Amino acid sequence: MSLSYKKVLVSGIVQGVGFRPFCARTALEMGVAGAVRNTSEGVVLELEGEAALLDAYLNRLETEQPDAAHITSIEIIENDESRFVPAFGTFSIERSIRREEQKVLIPPDIATCDDCLAELEDPENRRYHYPFINCTNCGPRYTIIKDLPYDRPLTTMSSFPLCERCREEYEAPADRRFHAQPNACSDCGPRLELTDSRGGMLATGDDAIAVLVNDLLQGKIAAIKGLGGFHLACDARSDTAVEMLRKRKDGPHKPLAIMVRDVEAADSIVVLSPTAQRLLGSTRRPIVLCPIRKGNGLSPRLAPGQTTLGIMLPYTPLHHLLMKHFRALVMTSANRSDAPIVCENDAALRELSSIADIFLMHNRDIHMPIDDSVVMPYGKSAILIRRARGFVPSPVSLPFRAPVIAGAGGEMKATFAISQGNLVFPGQFLGDLKQLETVVFYKRAMTHLLRLYNLHPKYLAYDMHPQYLSTHAAKESLGDAAEETLAVQHHFAHMAACMIDNGHHGDTIGVIFDGTGYGEDGALWGGEFLAGNLEGYRRIASLYQTSLPGGEKAILEPWRFALSLLKESFDAETAIALGATLWPEYSIKARAIVNTMHSAQKTTSCGRLFDGVSAILGIRSVISYDGQAAMELEAVARGRLAAPFALSCQEGFWILDWRPAIRWIADRIRSVETSVLSEAFHRGLSRSVAELCEILSRRTGIRHIALSGGVWQNKRLLSLTERLLRRRGLIPLIHHSLSPNDECVSVGQVAIGAAKWRK
Ligand code: ZN
Ligand code: ZN
Ligand code: FE
Repeated sequence: MSLSYKKVLVSGIVQGVGFRPFCARTALEMGVAGAVRNTSEGVVLELEGEAALLDAYLNRLETEQPDAAHITSIEIIENDESRFVPAFGTFSIERSIRREEQKVLIPPDIATCDDCLAELEDPENRRYHYPFINCTNCGPRYTIIKDLPYDRPLTTMSSFPLCERCREEYEAPADRRFHAQPNACSDCGPRLELTDSRGGMLATGDDAIAVLVNDLLQGKIAAIKGLGGFHLACDARSDTAVEMLRKRKDGPHKPLAIMVRDVEAADSIVVLSPTAQRLLGSTRRPIVLCPIRKGNGLSPRLAPGQTTLGIMLPYTPLHHLLMKHFRALVMTSANRSDAPIVCENDAALRELSSIADIFLMHNRDIHMPIDDSVVMPYGKSAILIRRARGFVPSPVSLPFRAPVIAGAGGEMKATFAISQGNLVFPGQFLGDLKQLETVVFYKRAMTHLLRLYNLHPKYLAYDMHPQYLSTHAAKESLGDAAEETLAVQHHFAHMAACMIDNGHHGDTIGVIFDGTGYGEDGALWGGEFLAGNLEGYRRIASLYQTSLPGGEKAILEPWRFALSLLKESFDAETAIALGATLWPEYSIKARAIVNTMHSAQKTTSCGRLFDGVSAILGIRSVISYDGQAAMELEAVARGRLAAPFALSCQEGFWILDWRPAIRWIADRIRSVETSVLSEAFHRGLSRSVAELCEILSRRTGIRHIALSGGVWQNKRLLSLTERLLRRRGLIPLIHHSLSPNDECVSVGQVAIGAAKWRK
């Protein structure tokens, strides 16, 4: 038997995720000898064994990698003289080597693992009930890393010198805590403290949790410091507590996410599909949107007007200790209105004292704040609604190697993205840049990522909108570094992001349905059919264009845009008369709006179309949070009817005309149920989209249809359209690892920039 030797470099997210112990375990199991170590380029393995065995071993590394790991490549290092393994016949975990260039990827934060949970609940264990227990398989990562290499001195754990026992674990290659950077115990690690809203100490340690539990049961509101920032928490059963939280913070209707004790509790509160259960339990621990179970014992005020509720499982030891006492707690991001999540103790006391009665804090700093991610189960996979904790900073792949490019992103759901080689790193959801604090957060997050990876973008791709605050924020973060810039049309960026998300790089038809984005002609686009690839596009069809009276106000008050839909579908007088019966309280304003409509901005927005139909159906005429009217419209939809839409073509440009549908719906408001009319709108639109796609496909020869834009978060529209496209022999591309909403725009910008600037 001849032994062969192999040295390989494994790249990707392979450090701080329990990858080396996994390599060692698998090697011992298979009888592979060798060693593994971290380097600044990735994990290096030296292996000895029969050639076939080594191949099988590497194959297993790829297929069975730990949940939180993400291998981007396994390269064989040929002719490398620097063998570092002294003795074969065993498998060992060696000390780290550092080199100049940094190629290792930073892992996202990882939910507490089962081993740590068992220890947390074991009275004999020295970490019994220690709220900061973690190991190489779990714990904080992205949120505590200040710089690379990922080592304790460069994290916010640097202020906690390891005690003797923790150090032994940290230094023992066979230990589950070998090089677990946030390793700690109650002797040497972070501590809990509970204070009142003025910072006055109430309790510490176990007592802090006991007092907090009692206060929550009495209906108080707590600010709780978590992994990526503070949550506001209250008893999810109590209408009074939920109402009070609404009054103090989120307004009357915005859905509040809850944390539930375990899967059983989840199953009693929502209808849990196998997909939902898998998403809920994944190490990323996102908020999962699930259908509400009737009579679940929780306050109906959690998600008024919605049929789904956002739920998540505990993901830190502190959550586990707390959730033993509750079936469900409201756990919503702690911030003022739309400002970024609060992450510092001082800031929490300063900014949340008018909302929370008590504060559960600790002294482990959060270096990079990050919100909970939100996902919606869709078939066997999921649609991302918000991509943040647990996902960031994992990269997505580009089809080719690109220079370092920054994508500035959109404005309302701001993100940035940076390319390096054939990877793009999308930053986390940052919020609405119209808030000054969000601009500060944006610059901080971008500067941080650039510094971590030692990247200096010479290229900047940004939205064509002349006033997007993301463009300014990105330029300020980069200083004068960007030598070349590129303005990218908003919906083209959406299409590119969806292509990247599917690893598809050929010609594509993009059906981009969203709120509004700046069009090449200065109008507000938002219902667009584009044909092209990363190199360029043509706009080949759109929704019928109409006026958007009052700009920003029309977004907050969908009845205003509904008047525009009615005027286009009937005439001015009919619109005024219908408006007076539908929204009598606005009848005087309505006349003025209709009469001045001709001078308003023009839009093809599909998001606004949904809002307007919601207002016409009397579902929601004034909103209190973004997307409310369209979400409530989707929530009521049921039935089999389809409203008629029309297709027409002028000089090769196609129009998807909603006017017949508006007339059809308006004629039936009194005679047909709202839910049936809502469904008919969804069905009619999806049929018409599929039909138009087939026509466009025949004319262009393109069969891939990319569906991007916030409207595609509408599960009903998405599933109907996807099915109809398939039935017509087309290939729908939907988002998988990016959100369809404006969060994906930064990645699209980078991809388009990469196609332009690659050499
Ligand atoms: Zn663990
Ligand atoms: Zn210790
Ligand atoms: Fe958009």
